Amino acid sequence: MNPDEIIGEVVHLTRLHDLWRKYECINLIASENIMSPKAEELYINDMMHRYAEGLPFKRYYQGHKYLDEVEVKAQQLMAGLFNAAHVDLRPLSGTIANLAVFVAFLENGNKVAALDVPHGAHVSHTIHGALGLRDVEVLQLPFDKERMNIDVDKAVKLVEQEKPDMIILGASLFLFPHPVKEISDAAKSYGGLVVYDAAHVLGLIAGKQFQQPFEEGADVVTSSTHKTFPGPQGGVIMAAEHVDFERVQKAIFPKLVCNHHIHRLPALAQTAWEMWRYGEAYARQTIKNAKALAEKLSELGFKVLAEEHGFTESHQVVIDVREYGGGKVNAEKLEANNIIANKNMIPGDEASSETMKNPSGIRIGTQEMTRWGCKEKDMEAIAEFIHRVVVKEENVKDDVMEFRKSFREVRYC
Ligand SMILES: *Cc1c(COP(=O)(O)O)cnc(C)c1O
Repeated sequence: MNPDEIIGEVVHLTRLHDLWRKYECINLIASENIMSPKAEELYINDMMHRYAEGLPFKRYYQGHKYLDEVEVKAQQLMAGLFNAAHVDLRPLSGTIANLAVFVAFLENGNKVAALDVPHGAHVSHTIHGALGLRDVEVLQLPFDKERMNIDVDKAVKLVEQEKPDMIILGASLFLFPHPVKEISDAAKSYGGLVVYDAAHVLGLIAGKQFQQPFEEGADVVTSSTHKTFPGPQGGVIMAAEHVDFERVQKAIFPKLVCNHHIHRLPALAQTAWEMWRYGEAYARQTIKNAKALAEKLSELGFKVLAEEHGFTESHQVVIDVREYGGGKVNAEKLEANNIIANKNMIPGDEASSETMKNPSGIRIGTQEMTRWGCKEKDMEAIAEFIHRVVVKEENVKDDVMEFRKSFREVRYC
């Protein structure tokens, strides 16, 4: 082992990664995004060396006079943007945000209603993930595969009959707004807690182009801060006025997070400001792009989910590529051509380990390419690249790299 050689390679590989993913690929991973240059600049700061356990102005160590104010101001920007009464920015990720809410509000023996993974749930909503750390009974929310959404009538009936202590809405495969209002109304009648996991759609909510979960009756909103919301990687928990938020804060610290990677907060505040200013235009174009991409893919012969219902109202488009060998092979083929998307389970896929390795779907998100300036006509070009790779088995890598040369500046910031 030669440490000099290894560190030299690490530096080189990091540069290669940056060049490849930032400037040479068409990035279509629905859960990723790119920060603005200003946010990137703010991300590098001394707060990355510090501890700040506890809440702003009530810390356990010294040295926080500036960063306490930064945290409070970041909270203010987020609270205003999402119409939240309470905000906690300390969760290190969306998963930790969910876990904190489960720790705060669930007791062993409680009932939780949630989607399952083929219908869009994130693994943290299941007993295989964070929810499994509580000993709860999980009821499956009924799903309508044609509409690619929760079956409202059946779900309301389930909630009324079973009175789950918590209902988890929001998803990772998330094409259409969930029936938050109907389910919240049913839950309010007996005091069930409605948690809306906005990880995928937070930027669309910020731009007011997707459902507003608090206005529709959600009690708690959890999220990542780096998917359609193009901030630094991290998590957030927000809540309506009536929620006992101290329980959440105590679940975060001292239970789940000590240092909260404070250096990300200035970049988070910067991103929240960008969403105040440019979020509407960004979110609107992201959704327009998703619709344009879906339409072109369908025209080229792909099975695009929810065709009868307009394909999508979010940043996501999902195609069923079973007939071309499944999600795994095709996601790999796309990667070899500098098109980065992920294989995904879709309704109809069984939750077996075989299917999870090669599910039927590919999930595509338009948010990052929208940030890079792509419009509808560029989506048509992307659909054609995908068609040439998946159906015609052509090599389009050079064409993709040429295409990316026109999109090198982050917009909406
Ligand atoms: C991505 C995602 C999460 C997890 O977020 P991390 O920040 O990756 O931990 C939680 N919920 C949903 C719905 C997600 O899509």
